[in-house]
Amino acid sequence: MEKVVIIGSGPAGWTAALYTARAQLAPLVLMGHQPGGLLTTTSIVENFPGFPEGVDGYELMTRMQKQAERFGAKTSFGIVDSVDFSQRPFTLVVDGEKVTARTVIIATGASHKHLGVPGEHELENKGTTYCATCDGALPMFRNQPLVVVGGGDSACEEALYLTRFGSEVCLVHRRESLRASKIMTDRTLGNPKIRPVWNSVVTEVLDVEQGKVTGVKLKNLKTGVESILPCSGVFIAIGHTPNTKIFQGQINTDENGFIVPQERTLTNVPGVFVAGDCADHVYRQAVTAAGAGCAAAIDAERFLEAENV
Ligand code: NAP
Repeated sequence: MEKVVIIGSGPAGWTAALYTARAQLAPLVLMGHQPGGLLTTTSIVENFPGFPEGVDGYELMTRMQKQAERFGAKTSFGIVDSVDFSQRPFTLVVDGEKVTARTVIIATGASHKHLGVPGEHELENKGTTYCATCDGALPMFRNQPLVVVGGGDSACEEALYLTRFGSEVCLVHRRESLRASKIMTDRTLGNPKIRPVWNSVVTEVLDVEQGKVTGVKLKNLKTGVESILPCSGVFIAIGHTPNTKIFQGQINTDENGFIVPQERTLTNVPGVFVAGDCADHVYRQAVTAAGAGCAAAIDAERFLEAENV
């Protein structure tokens, strides 16, 4: 039986692993579909403290893994098929095999919602991105026209951030009013570098043949008119889906599937803790996820201590 099983291997998962490993709990990390998490899909991470020159997302995650392993964290490429938190010890089915655990830390993260249009996937990291904070300052976007897709707070935040780098930021939204909060809407629409493009959807990201983003094909939903909007970057900010499906019915979530802790990192099931983007739709930063991973590890450690494990 494992003392601690950590589901997920992003900054939250590895930090939880580091802390529980140093507490000599020999955690088992189930790395899941995307070992290293979303950060491995980013090129340069410039906002993780301690790396003044920036650090490659994949390298950062590999370093976190090594650091946790150095203190005894065990890792598995396992994918969790199902969990049973109804009695203790908890049971997880991992690639068809049963694993039992005294505590579980859920750090499964979230996935960016995708548009699902031609060119989007092919040009990922070649001008299509899902995170302005991560990628906006890259040289390829400097003084270039940029497109942000979405109408929520995230899209506004991305657009505002990108005004520091791009020559112009076009905010493409499928309706003619933003979903974002009033303050973000006012700030966004009041920024002279941001041009809203209303009632429009991106139907294709161009240009796969050139291997880089040169523009987007737009369709106006009111008039049906199609057009091409030249740009060097497309920032897609249409929301996130937390990776929490397998916990549904057992762990409390909000209406969007984000886990709602009872307090701190404690979920509604004693012995099950949560950290990172699967419970955070506000900050969603590597450093905040890492901090939450640390907190969940300390909470799990204290829980086991109280049970004299
Ligand atoms: P969101 O509020 O769900 O907004 C998603 C936006 O994307 C909506 O405008 C939606 O259009 C659009 N959209 C969704 N699917 C689309 C598709 N397939 N094609 C085109 N457009 C599509 O998500 P979010 O902006 O990530 O915000 C999530 C939560 O975090 C919110 O509660 C938000 O307030 C919070 N947040 C707060 C801040 C802040 O306060 N600074 C910053 C970021 C996020 P419709 O409007 O037509 O549905």
